[in-house]
Amino acid sequence: MGISAWLGVIRDVVLPRGCAGCDAPDAVVCGECRELLDRTVVFDMPGTSIGRGYACAWYGGAVRQVILGWKDHRDEECDGPLSEAMAVLAARCLQATVSGMHTVLVVPAPSSSASVHRRGRRHTAVLAAAVARACRDMGIDARVVPLLTMDHVRGRSVQMGGGQRSRRVSGRIAVRRPELCRHAHVIVVDDIVTTGATMRQCVDALRSSGAQVVTCLSVAYTPQPDAATVRDSAARDDTSAA
Ligand SMILES: [Zn+2]
Repeated sequence: MGISAWLGVIRDVVLPRGCAGCDAPDAVVCGECRELLDRTVVFDMPGTSIGRGYACAWYGGAVRQVILGWKDHRDEECDGPLSEAMAVLAARCLQATVSGMHTVLVVPAPSSSASVHRRGRRHTAVLAAAVARACRDMGIDARVVPLLTMDHVRGRSVQMGGGQRSRRVSGRIAVRRPELCRHAHVIVVDDIVTTGATMRQCVDALRSSGAQVVTCLSVAYTPQPDAATVRDSAARDDTSAA
């Protein structure tokens, strides 16, 4: 190992880490970036009971940095801030929707086995666990059940164009234990919703097995050219009225 590599090791030990989103010192995710994760984006999600899904943030800038570092560069210290953001979103958006429900299954969106192998874990399960905890805090018997599987998909989905992603994903999502789906209330959880195509595949697969998909939650939502379907500024009014 050369001197500069050793200096890098020493720097990493001596100096605390920077924010995963903006590199500000002394924080896993700094206060400003946490605020970006507290936007509540509402998006249309056909096939769900309430017809829409919710995301913590728009996908881009510091939010994109946090998510990519977390999922693709094993920055597992971001588990904490991202779980917190998902729990806040769930508490804000689900209260009215899930009240009266006895049991809710929280289903993480699937990754291909190649992605799971590369990352060393199913990262969406971390988010699903946070949502399930938030539901239990609301008095609902909620648990994470990884019901969905995805066949091998080549390439990293977020870098593909919308149509390409849709084609590749089409027909590749399956339900692992359909007997658990019958009459079950389900919430699907993902990291990024880009075109919504993957999420719709998840919803369709679960519904075809008899589940009632209540809604979908995600960390981030990619801005669409047709922004009319997204009601960011109205999100809080919308959810408080829901
Ligand atoms: Zn930051």
